[in-house]
This record gives sequence, C-alpha cells and structure tokens, in this order.
Amino acid sequence: MQLLLDLIYPSRCAACDQLCSQNAAFCVTCARALEPIEGGCRFCALPSPGNLCLSCLVRPPSYKRARSMFAFGGPLADAIRRFKFGRMPALGRTLASLLREDEELTDKEALERRLIVPVPLHYRRLRQREFNPASLLVLAAPLTGIRAFDALSRVRDTPPQTALSGRARQNNVRDAFVGRRDRVRGRSVLLIDDVMTTGATVEACTRALRQAGAIEVSVLTMARAVP
Ligand SMILES: [Zn+2]
Ligand SMILES: [Zn+2]
Repeated sequence: MQLLLDLIYPSRCAACDQLCSQNAAFCVTCARALEPIEGGCRFCALPSPGNLCLSCLVRPPSYKRARSMFAFGGPLADAIRRFKFGRMPALGRTLASLLREDEELTDKEALERRLIVPVPLHYRRLRQREFNPASLLVLAAPLTGIRAFDALSRVRDTPPQTALSGRARQNNVRDAFVGRRDRVRGRSVLLIDDVMTTGATVEACTRALRQAGAIEVSVLTMARAVP
C-alpha cells in the first residue's frame, strides 16, 4: 500500500529534493545524517551529559526551558536554508511536523491555555522575505495551545545575528522586542524559532514576554547550533 501511495503521491526530501517515501520529511540518506538532541541541557538545549550544563549553572537564562530537535548542520541546515531563503514556505509544514515537546508539561488544561508564539521579524524584513519562517512553524506544528502571532513584536530592525558573535548578539537584540500585555499577561508561553544559535534572541524575547506579564516562557526550536 505504501508503495502504491509513493507512486501516486511522491514526496521529496526537504534537504536534497530526492524522491522519498510518503510522509517522510527526509530521504533515507539525509535522515541518517540528522543529529537529534536527546536530553540536552534543560536551559540552553545543548547536548550535555547531565540535564544542566556548566554555563547555565553559572548564568541561568530567563526562560524556563529550551529544547531543540536537532543539532544545526548537514541536511537539516540545507532544509532550513531552502525553507527560509529559497522561498519555499511549503517546506515549513514538513519541518514543523518534526517539532516535538518532551513530556514535562502534563497538565492538559494548562497546555490548552498556553500561548504558542513565533519569534517575530521586523515588518521591514518581513516585507523583503514575504513570510516569517517561525510563524509558519507555529502554524503547522503538532502542539497544543493558542497560536498567538501578535503577542510579540519586533520594534527594532537589527542587523542579522549571523554577522555577529557572542556579546555583540546580546547587545544587538536587547530591547528589540515588545510583548502585548493584553495577550500575554498571566499566560505561559511556548516560543518557537527555526534555529537557536547563542540563545541571545530567545533570551531577549523572553524578557519582553515576562515584562508584559507572562508567567513563564519555554523555547522550542528546530535546530541548535552546537559549538
Ligand atoms: Zn535527502
Ligand atoms: Zn545549558
């Protein structure tokens, strides 16, 4: 039956565009090259032997928890690049299908009331890019909660983080975000982005959400840059 479906509705690998089996995001070769992050540091999502890495122990972030599905690189990096810069919004659905939470949040009612919020783009960049990759992930992700695309906005157009390193990234995004108090107050928030690099962006988003009255913020990203 699967073979028949594959013949009628061929799917293509998100990274290399090879034909692959129905409902698979990646072809067999690319899927093998993915590096899932299992049980990384609970704060920064980096692979770590315990559930807390040394740098988060010394300087814990403002968010309660961060989880990333895969280490950034290889076929996942190719897929994300095609999705974001190749103007292939349809790939967002494929990538979003891989987003999963861990079992920590078990209170179903709390989950239903929780806001799922994309890391926003500045409107000028949104106009250039035509879509916000994080918003498309939020739209299609198999997650429970209220999708809130307007809960957080980017009020400052900052240079791309990729051009900067460490401390410069923190300064670059400081005060770049503002949360909407009427949407956010008293809620827990799950913040979604495609890639977490140093964590400076999600830290700045978390501070803005907390300032607007969010009780707590967790972070879920497709990929995590592993130094
Ligand atoms: Zn492939
Ligand atoms: Zn950590």
